[in-house]
Amino acid sequence: MNKLIIANWKMNPSTLAEAYALFGSVKKVALLARNTSTVIAPPHVFLQPLASSTRAKRLQFAAQNIHFAKSGSQVGEVSASQVKDVGASMVLIGHSARRRSGETEEDINKKIETALEEKLIPVVFVGERERDAHGTFLRTLRKQITIALEGIKINKVKNIVFVYEPVWAISTNKTNGDGQEITANDIHKMVLFLQKTIAELYGLPIARKVRVLYGGSVNAQNISSVLSVPRIDGAVVGAASLDAAEFRAILQVANKTR
Ligand code: PEP
Repeated sequence: MNKLIIANWKMNPSTLAEAYALFGSVKKVALLARNTSTVIAPPHVFLQPLASSTRAKRLQFAAQNIHFAKSGSQVGEVSASQVKDVGASMVLIGHSARRRSGETEEDINKKIETALEEKLIPVVFVGERERDAHGTFLRTLRKQITIALEGIKINKVKNIVFVYEPVWAISTNKTNGDGQEITANDIHKMVLFLQKTIAELYGLPIARKVRVLYGGSVNAQNISSVLSVPRIDGAVVGAASLDAAEFRAILQVANKTR
């Protein structure tokens, strides 16, 4: 299966003109990368203009969030059908920045259900805030996965993409510059832990079909090491996706990795 590289633009760039420019300078490389599926997750307001300019199997779009309600009086929110209608085929759910602003495990579970009903692929973020020597963080992860999947029918689970993104490894959280670095071996252990947890709920054949990505300070220097992790299906790229040359380099490496 193709490697999946998701550019999480977060609340960037500042203007539509800049969004067009950034997208324009990665589009060609993304379209030429035969072994890679690229997904751009821009702010909601840029989804429609960008998605209507290009949409191809190898270059798709994700919304950064949806509300779990299908429609209603939720001021300032967007629904699954709305983002789908303007060009998203995926939606990011449960990113740590959203959890930090109050999103609960139960909200995440409801958003996954709504996304699946609307035939949007949920890209579900799990990951610990910090690591402890006793392995308590594994319990955190198990809880996140278990609640996220509560009530999700077995035939739908393979459509979910999980992202293991330890909060401490996100570039903007490493403020002191001497933060911990995650190793390929650590990522491998966590991918196996994720698959084991899903297997306990749905069985191994289903767990093997669920794609697992890594997120947290991925850049052109470390992408090759991240993608060398057995059973990893790709990466989510935040800060480095805002630098067109760097993101193009990431796609080129991903495209050469089998
Ligand atoms: C993210 O926050 O989803 C992310 C991948 O960020 P960064 O690559 O900047 O660590």
